[in-house]
Amino acid sequence: MKLEGVHHVTAITAKAQENVDFYAGTLGLRMVKKTVNQDDPSVYHLFYADERGSAGSDITFFEYPGAAPGRAGDGMVHTVGWRLASADALSFWEQRLGDAGAAVERGEATIRFSDPEGLTHELRISTVEDQPLIADHPEVPKEVALQGFDGVRAFSSRPDASTKLLETLDFGRSGDGWEARGDGRGGLYAYDDPPGERGIPGAGTVHHVAWASQMDEHEQWRERVIEAGGQPTPVIDRFYFRSIYFREPSGVLFEIATLGPGFTADEPLETLGEKLSLPPDYERLRDQIEGIVKPIRNPRATARQG
Ligand code: ZN
Repeated sequence: MKLEGVHHVTAITAKAQENVDFYAGTLGLRMVKKTVNQDDPSVYHLFYADERGSAGSDITFFEYPGAAPGRAGDGMVHTVGWRLASADALSFWEQRLGDAGAAVERGEATIRFSDPEGLTHELRISTVEDQPLIADHPEVPKEVALQGFDGVRAFSSRPDASTKLLETLDFGRSGDGWEARGDGRGGLYAYDDPPGERGIPGAGTVHHVAWASQMDEHEQWRERVIEAGGQPTPVIDRFYFRSIYFREPSGVLFEIATLGPGFTADEPLETLGEKLSLPPDYERLRDQIEGIVKPIRNPRATARQG
């Protein structure tokens, strides 16, 4: 039983339209689902991924309009890592992100930048053989497109406290951290020393990272977490996948989510993310909800129409 790398990363935005412009516009991802927060249907939950809405490429945002900017600190993910094919791809993104006004820091095989609300991303030349998870975008040739997550890095003042849990979840040691590698994909997880200032959850910070489980192993992962001393939630049906949540000992909120049924559960692949999807319980409130959430414009649709 192995976790199949990162399933998704969920972060917080205060500004849905800017968020869509950046992730579906500048970064060239596909908005694969536009829905509402299951715990508060007056605000958006936006999902961006590859063309098929695959786990392993899916970054999602809760919109909290007016949320104050946060900052990553001890026990929080501070950087989201993505794979790129080549040095040419790094140069492409250095240029494109720079043109979009981002401050880009180039390393030997990486570039780092922050989204408009301060969430840090790192694009890395990847040598792993996992299938590249790519979205179609008219301005981003597929040779240079983002290929899905490489992994995340978190701040921890006591990384050793997490060892037992990570080993129980069958993470292996990799580089300066850990890797969850399954049959199809792997994802990295590593710790850095925390900054002096404490973290503040808010806009531009990661809320949780989800690891991918095969459909039929999800319950067993929950039992494993309990064996390792964790306190997982019951299995929650998120409609596009099933989830459990628990805080790992370094303080980072983990989720384990099933690989299916996926984003085509309630709309066809061709039109993913175009209309507001509502969980079945909220469908009867559609008129009311559509009256509350602000309409958002998808830059990708605009670019396609030329
Ligand atoms: Zn999640």
